[in-house]
Amino acid sequence: MLRETWAEIDPRRIVDNVRAIRGTLPAGVKLMAVVKANGYGHGDLEAAEAARQAGADCLAVAFLEEALRLRAGGVRLPILILTPIRPDQVELAMARDLTLTVTGADWFRELRRHSPTLAGRKLRVHVKADTGLGRIGFRTEAEWDALVPWLAAPDIDVDGFYTHFATAGQADTAYLERQARRFAELMTRCKASGITVRHYHCAGSAAALRFPGLALDMVRIGAAMYGFYPARLTPPVPLKPALSLHSTLMQVKRVRQGEYIGYDNAYRAEADEWIGTVPIGYADGWSQRMQGAPALVRGQRAAIVGRIAMDQLMLRLPGPCATGDRVTLIGRQGGQRIAFAELAAHIDGAAQEITTALTDRLAKVYANAKKEAEYAWDNAYFQPQRREPTVI
Ligand SMILES: *Cc1c(COP(=O)(O)O)cnc(C)c1O
Repeated sequence: MLRETWAEIDPRRIVDNVRAIRGTLPAGVKLMAVVKANGYGHGDLEAAEAARQAGADCLAVAFLEEALRLRAGGVRLPILILTPIRPDQVELAMARDLTLTVTGADWFRELRRHSPTLAGRKLRVHVKADTGLGRIGFRTEAEWDALVPWLAAPDIDVDGFYTHFATAGQADTAYLERQARRFAELMTRCKASGITVRHYHCAGSAAALRFPGLALDMVRIGAAMYGFYPARLTPPVPLKPALSLHSTLMQVKRVRQGEYIGYDNAYRAEADEWIGTVPIGYADGWSQRMQGAPALVRGQRAAIVGRIAMDQLMLRLPGPCATGDRVTLIGRQGGQRIAFAELAAHIDGAAQEITTALTDRLAKVYANAKKEAEYAWDNAYFQPQRREPTVI
């Protein structure tokens, strides 16, 4: 590791979270672990492996490329692609044993133009209904009826039928109940049409953990497996974050009251202050929306002051610190902690927005024996020189 800025990821915490979530589910409910967006920024293969160890039945990703990466990495569990792929890509997906999301009859019409026989094999699909999120899925009874003859073909295997909620993380459950009722109507329609479906599912993390009655045959768990839960709600089991983010002070200086810090003179020292420069910026995924957020240095809070630049940011330090001191942007240091919930509130977003934004320019360090050894070696080799500041 050459850079002094890194994310530490402990896949054992993902294992613990998935096991804990599994423990809340009614017997027989399958668990689909969602590892899209590079495992919510934690590493797709690492997240998939943790989910497998914890007994996940299958995986989900958003896009075909993400599924191909998992297969190339040796992942064998069933994988559902949550957004429809192009019909001309279906043979590639089938060759990798992937399960597809379908939403309408037009897609099948185009598929049959491309691949009339599907090379004699069965295509496994989950049909997606839009019950109120307004994103993807068929919406009306007429659209469902148009799908039925295509789904009834002998080379189509309807493994699932699902929908997704818009407000599962909100305290007010009225809209969620409305969506659940609409989904129940569509399930009835589906059963009446003679299509055999193996798994009905509707719940992501928040719905599955808040309302076990919505678990149906399967739940799709993303956020909670990484330790994330909606703001102001309490999960029924403890969830542990698996990622922390660290850097080091690369310069420490004393500035006088009234001096400016950062681009656009966005901060002016309120008093004589200690300012530290940290080599992480928006090109690492630490967005300018993090301006004003805290970091930890020497076990104390220090605010990010001034604009966050592409490669650096500045902290108003609690006092004189040394170059080479560790800076923690997410996680624990000393007795202090910066939690995802606090940062998510700061950016008025979700924790997964923070972790998925982290870019490949940052090193990722995994807490397992082999990686810990590599990291220890690197760390010893590249241990930054500590220099105590000169007090003026
Ligand atoms: C991302 C996604 C999920 C996972 O949701 P979480 O809230 O992160 O658990 C489930 N289903 C669909 C359709 C998704 O797009």
